[in-house]
Amino acid sequence: MKAVFFRRHGGNEVLEYGEWPAQEPGPGEVRIAIRAAAMNHLDLFVRDGLPGVPLPQVPGADGAGVVDAAGPGVEGLSPGDRVLVQPGLYCNVCEFCRAGEQSLCVKFQIVGEHVPGTFAELAVVPARNVFPIPGRLDFEQAAAFPLVYQTAWRMVVTRGEVRPGQTVLIHGAGGGAGGAALEVARLVGARVFATTSGEEKAKRLAEAGAEAVLDYTKQDVAKEIRALTARRGVDVVIDSVGDKTWMTSLKCAANGGRIVTCGATTGPNPKEEIRLIFWKQLSILGSTMANDREFRAMLSAVAAGSLSPRIDSVFALSRAREAYDRLEKGDHHGKVILVPDSRTREWPDGD
Ligand SMILES: [Zn+2]
Repeated sequence: MKAVFFRRHGGNEVLEYGEWPAQEPGPGEVRIAIRAAAMNHLDLFVRDGLPGVPLPQVPGADGAGVVDAAGPGVEGLSPGDRVLVQPGLYCNVCEFCRAGEQSLCVKFQIVGEHVPGTFAELAVVPARNVFPIPGRLDFEQAAAFPLVYQTAWRMVVTRGEVRPGQTVLIHGAGGGAGGAALEVARLVGARVFATTSGEEKAKRLAEAGAEAVLDYTKQDVAKEIRALTARRGVDVVIDSVGDKTWMTSLKCAANGGRIVTCGATTGPNPKEEIRLIFWKQLSILGSTMANDREFRAMLSAVAAGSLSPRIDSVFALSRAREAYDRLEKGDHHGKVILVPDSRTREWPDGD
């Protein structure tokens, strides 16, 4: 089968497109003929080099397609079924899994990071990570939401405990996780303040329901948030940016506020001000992916049309380097999608 893979870490020059051995599904596993895969910032980190990434590796966490083959013991899934992949892999036997907290699993892994991923014609995953595609979605849309929306759901609903009418500040809301968090926070009924850069992105975030959009390249975000909240600060800050926003997050949280972190796109070692944490009695909450219950709740919201994954662009697998470029430049609006080259031949303009 054809796949995108790399044999060493680095920039786009390490990405190759070519033959990769097709894997047989083992007990409890299914093999999916991938029709569309979606890119995440994670894919850039995995290409650059993260501990625990085996080499060579096929990247890609998000994917959707049809069941190609089912391994021994798999029930309820048959070849041809339209399915999507939940990319969080868990052991199902440790104390956290038994408690229903799959993303706290002691053996937690992510498809395309620790095991071969979805930027391929075929991908093998446990059957418990496979869900039917909600009827109204095409393959591109079905691939576009599992990783970011589950991450957003756990951050906003479970960890942030955002309630109707509460105020939420989302840093970098133009990005995948931030944009999904904006949608989930609006669905919950919160008032959302978002930061981004550039007028185009600001306009889109306002359309998505942000009450105020701040340009972090031009405005003092902490000062603006004080003004917007009558000096009170916000109930919850969603921070996936790290180094560049952490101090602002500490300043913007209201007394007793909660700061949820799920990433560090600008670096993992920000300046800290411990006095702000104890004096304002802040809660600092980590969040990664989601548990099974949260994933199903998020999936129901997508199926009902309450959350709508947006597609930015679609590239053939053989053009993966261009897709990585597009994601890395950060000008995209919505998800960058990869599809097998055989599918692009169905399209008149080849793209
Ligand atoms: Zn486990």
